[in-house]
Amino acid sequence: MSELIYPLAIPVKAGLELINKYNLRSETSLKDHVDDYVEYADVLFSAHAPIEIDGQRLNVASIDRDFREYSIDVIKTYIDKCAMFPNLTQLNLHFGYKRWFAEAQIQGRIGDYENHIMAVRDIADHASEYEIEIVMENLNSYWSANQILPETDPLEIDWSDKSEPFATYPDEWISMCEDINNSNVKLCLDTSHICTYAQRFPKEDRKKEIMKFLSRPDLINHVHWSDNYLYDIRGRNDSHLTVGSGTIPTDFHKAVKSLDATILLEHYYSENQLIQELEFIDKL
Ligand SMILES: [Zn+2]
Ligand SMILES: [Zn+2]
Repeated sequence: MSELIYPLAIPVKAGLELINKYNLRSETSLKDHVDDYVEYADVLFSAHAPIEIDGQRLNVASIDRDFREYSIDVIKTYIDKCAMFPNLTQLNLHFGYKRWFAEAQIQGRIGDYENHIMAVRDIADHASEYEIEIVMENLNSYWSANQILPETDPLEIDWSDKSEPFATYPDEWISMCEDINNSNVKLCLDTSHICTYAQRFPKEDRKKEIMKFLSRPDLINHVHWSDNYLYDIRGRNDSHLTVGSGTIPTDFHKAVKSLDATILLEHYYSENQLIQELEFIDKL
C-alpha cells in the first residue's frame, strides 16, 4: 500500500456535498463553464479547458492562421475566468489536431507541429501570469470517428490518413512537452485514453505499450485516472470506468497512485461505486 501525495479529485457533477463528505477535491469538465461553479471555489484545484465551440474542435496547431488564433484566444479567455478561483492552479489542455475530418469541422482540419509548439508556449505564458500551470493531456485513438469496423485487424490500419490529434503516441506526448520547453507546461496522463491507443497492438504487447506513458514520471503533474478494457474491443472506446473495474494491470495502477501528481478520478456514476473505488485505491 502506498499513500497518495495529494487528495483525489472527482468531477463537479458529483455535487459539492459529496465532494466535501469524502474530503476530495474537484475539477470542472470540458463541457462545464468554470464560472458556473463559484460555490465550488474551495474544492476546485483544476479545470479542463474547452475543446470545441459550435460543434467545431478548437485546433491550436491549425495551419489556418485565423482559426489557430481564434482557438488560442478561446483558451486564454478561459484562463482569465479560471484566475478568479483562488485554489485553481492547473488547467488541463487537449492537444490540437494533425487531421480532423469530422463533417462539422469547417475550419482547422489540418495542424502543424511547429504551430502547435508556439501556441502552447503562448498559452502557458498567459497562464503563468496567474500562476496557473498548463498540463497537456494524451489523447485517444479515434476508432469510431474514423469508422473503423470491429472486425478490422488493428495491424492493417494506416493511421497516417485518419483523424488524429497530436500526442496520442507516448513518445510524441513526451517529446512535445520537451520541445515546448516551458517551465509552466507539464503533462496530464489520461489512463482511459492510453487503452484506446494500446488497442492498435496485439494483446501481448499492450501492457508494454501503456507502460511507455510512465517512462517520464517527472513530467507528469496531473492524472485523469480511470479504468478501461485493455484486452478486448470495448477498449477502443474511451470507457472511463471506475478504477479497478476494468483490466488495466494492478501494477500500472500502483505506479499511477505513487506519482507526484494531482489526480482526478475522471468519471462519476454513484456514491456506492465511488466508495468501492476508493477502497480499491486504498489497497494498492
Ligand atoms: Zn480531456
Ligand atoms: Zn481526460
